[in-house]
Amino acid sequence: MFRALFSVLSPSGARARLSIFIFHRVLAERDPLFPGEVTRAEFDAICGWLRGWCNVLPLGVAAKALKDGTLPSRAVAITFDDGYADNHDQAAPVLARHGLTATFFIASGFLDGGRMWNDTVIESVRRCGKASLDLRQATAAALDVLALGTNEGRRQAIDRILAATKYRPPAERARWVDAIAEAAEVTLPNDLMMTSAQVRSLHRSGMEIGAHTVSHPILRDLPIPAAEKEIRDGRQALQEIIAAPVRLFAYPNGKPSVDYSSQSVDLVRELGFDAAVSTERRAANATDDFLQLPRYTPWERTEMRFGLRMAHTLATT
Ligand SMILES: [Zn+2]
Repeated sequence: MFRALFSVLSPSGARARLSIFIFHRVLAERDPLFPGEVTRAEFDAICGWLRGWCNVLPLGVAAKALKDGTLPSRAVAITFDDGYADNHDQAAPVLARHGLTATFFIASGFLDGGRMWNDTVIESVRRCGKASLDLRQATAAALDVLALGTNEGRRQAIDRILAATKYRPPAERARWVDAIAEAAEVTLPNDLMMTSAQVRSLHRSGMEIGAHTVSHPILRDLPIPAAEKEIRDGRQALQEIIAAPVRLFAYPNGKPSVDYSSQSVDLVRELGFDAAVSTERRAANATDDFLQLPRYTPWERTEMRFGLRMAHTLATT
């Protein structure tokens, strides 16, 4: 049923639609703190549905075909942001089993033992052995005492800390996050992100590698030379790892005019990327700016609901 429906909603040629899906992590098993996060079993099911319904293409190939008016009907590209080790350990074997390729946008600065600031927050709260966490000192009283007695409490604590820190200036955010980790009195993991060898192995197995800056900043908030350095150096690091050109880019966080600006898009153009992706939630069409292609993921976990969400998104694009 969905195959026929998508042929109508996502035809080939000049009126084509491209559904670019965005994932971050694929977990080995359910995480009680993030029950909505995709598990390997769920990702396996999604890949099976997409293989049956759609034409799954590497993003670089799909974007070029969309531009040229030669995109097949029911076109889908699968992308991952940030560079989590589970992309290599969990997602890649599933993709390979289904004969699908995906594009992995990697923030180069966290490879080989690094950690994104939001994961420092999450892992501090997850591993904290206390019943409550007093964050008044760590956050200049922006946050109070957070209860950690239940999974629900820990989840709320994570949400509140992330909301309070996300759009702080990077230096202040880093100070707060370090202070939060110290207050939690935990040992933090250093294997959440991929190693360079894992990135190389993804590339060798036929996956696409895309740039995602070095340190995942909000590009809009950076002076232009600093934003350019983030984009250029992130690409350069990946090119050295895979010994091949990197032609695709994903804006960190990716919300147009909130997380990046028109100047960021100009930089990506001047640096010669073929295509770039945002996190505007819809399907792409041939009239879109190829340096700001939208992405979305149906969060529904049953075949029927997932298919209907995709159909709805295609119908309203
Ligand atoms: Zn990201």
